Amino acid sequence: MNELESYIRNIPDFPKPGIQFKDITPLLANPEAFSEAIRRMINPFEQQSITKVLGIEARGFLFAAPIAMHVNAGIVPLRKPGKLPYSIISHTYDLEYGTDTIEMHQDAISGDDRILIVDDLLATGGTVGAAVKLAESTGATIVGIAFLIELEFLNGRKKINGYPVHSLVKF
Ligand code: AMP
Repeated sequence: MNELESYIRNIPDFPKPGIQFKDITPLLANPEAFSEAIRRMINPFEQQSITKVLGIEARGFLFAAPIAMHVNAGIVPLRKPGKLPYSIISHTYDLEYGTDTIEMHQDAISGDDRILIVDDLLATGGTVGAAVKLAESTGATIVGIAFLIELEFLNGRKKINGYPVHSLVKF
């Protein structure tokens, strides 16, 4: 198997001019690369008695589900507004232009849960910062945050200061 980076395809100017979109579908399509990525994303947190994995819509779900099964934890979806059917809690965060919101079912996690937050990619950190706020508002313990990819030049880590952050491929 090659380096994980070689399974990530760069698509210039998608979805709009100036964005270098990191396409992970070649990695997802390769069973060895995908299982290696899952194994390495979990590695630093394996002994942390995780009870819930929070997956961020939508590509985060693809990683959160196999990770949750590996560590014998439940999976909780964090979703865009209007998708979850039951009572929700939400957090709104700033984008370059405007705001965005993520939602979670109000009973999805509780104060005694030990949480791993998972997404495919850390860019500005706005999305994962909101996920942290939602998880913290329940009193749960965040034991770590795992990404496949980190765009280091965007300094997303400063939005999740103080938490153990793990990413596999850095650009
Ligand atoms: P941010 O809130 O800026 O950290 O953005 C993170 C979210 O946006 C993740 O859920 C990513 O899937 C997506 N994202 C941001 N930038 C990119 C990119 N260059 N390529 C692929 N996905 C991206």
